[in-house]
Amino acid sequence: MNLVIGSHVSFKKDTQMLGSIKEALSYGANTFMFYTGAPQNTKRYDIDNKLTKQALDLLIDNNIDINNVVVHAPYIVNLANDKNYDFNVSFLKQEIKRVELLGVSLLVLHPGSHVGLGEEKGIQNIIDSLNDVIYPDQKVFICLETMAGKGTELGRNFEQIKKIIDGIKHSEKIKVCLDTCHIHDAGYDLNNFDKVIEDFNKIIGLDKLAVIHINDSKNEKNSHKDRHENIGYGHIGFDNILTVIYHDKLKSIPKILETPYIMQYPPYKMEIEMIRNKKFNDSLINDVINYYK
Ligand code: FE
Ligand code: FE
Ligand code: ZN
Repeated sequence: MNLVIGSHVSFKKDTQMLGSIKEALSYGANTFMFYTGAPQNTKRYDIDNKLTKQALDLLIDNNIDINNVVVHAPYIVNLANDKNYDFNVSFLKQEIKRVELLGVSLLVLHPGSHVGLGEEKGIQNIIDSLNDVIYPDQKVFICLETMAGKGTELGRNFEQIKKIIDGIKHSEKIKVCLDTCHIHDAGYDLNNFDKVIEDFNKIIGLDKLAVIHINDSKNEKNSHKDRHENIGYGHIGFDNILTVIYHDKLKSIPKILETPYIMQYPPYKMEIEMIRNKKFNDSLINDVINYYK
C-alpha cells in the first residue's frame, strides 16, 4: 500500500519550501509539514515565487503530491480569546494567502484556549473568527487539531470540534487533524483504536479527517499534558501507533511525525524506517546520534 508519511520540517527564509522538501527527502518521506515562520511567533516573510516554482518541480520529480503537504499555523494564534480578535483574523487571512501561493491546501490550526472565558464563549469566539477568516472560494482547508486538553484548551474531544464545525458558515472549508499524542492525553484509548475511529465517524464524520499527527506520548492516557515522545518509546507504544498508521480506513491520509529531536538531531529518518519495516528499533537513540554526529 502507498503509505503517505513524513514529518515536521523547517522552512527557512532563504530556501523556503525548496529547503523543506530537501529535508523531507533526506528522511525518506513522501510528505511533510512546516510552519511558514517560527511556530511561536507571527513574524512571516514574503513567499518567493521563484523558490516556490523550484519546489513544485522538485515535488513532481519525486512523485510527491502537493495535496498531501501540510502547513501548521503558529500556535500562539488563539481564536478562543477575543482579546486579539482583529489581529488573529487578519493574520490568518494572510496565512491562507501565503499557503495558497505555495500551492498547499492543508492548514492545521489549534482551535484555541478559552483562558477562563468558559467553553461556550471560547467556542463561540473560534466560530466568529473563522467565519470572518474563511472566504467561499479559498482553496485551503483549515484543519482543526484535536488537542490534549492542557489548561483551557478547546478541541479536547470530538464533540467540541463538531460544535465548532457546526457554527461555521462555509464548513466545507473545515477539516480535522487527529494527533495521536493529543487524543491519548485527552483520554481516548489507543488500545482500542477501532472504537476511536467509530466515535470520530459518528460525531464528526470520517470524511472530515484530513491529516494525522503521529506521536507517542510521554504521559499516561487522560493526563492532559501534551508532551510528545519518540515512536514506540512512550505510553501509546509501537503496536498501537502501527495500528493507526496502517488502518484500512485511513490509508490515503497524510501522516506527520512531530516527535522530539534526540540530542540536537532529527529522529525522523530512523522513525520512518521503523514504521515502514513495521519493526521496533530499540536502538533508535544510538542510530540517530551515530548517523548525524
Ligand atoms: Fe499542532
Ligand atoms: Fe500535533
Ligand atoms: Zn502536541
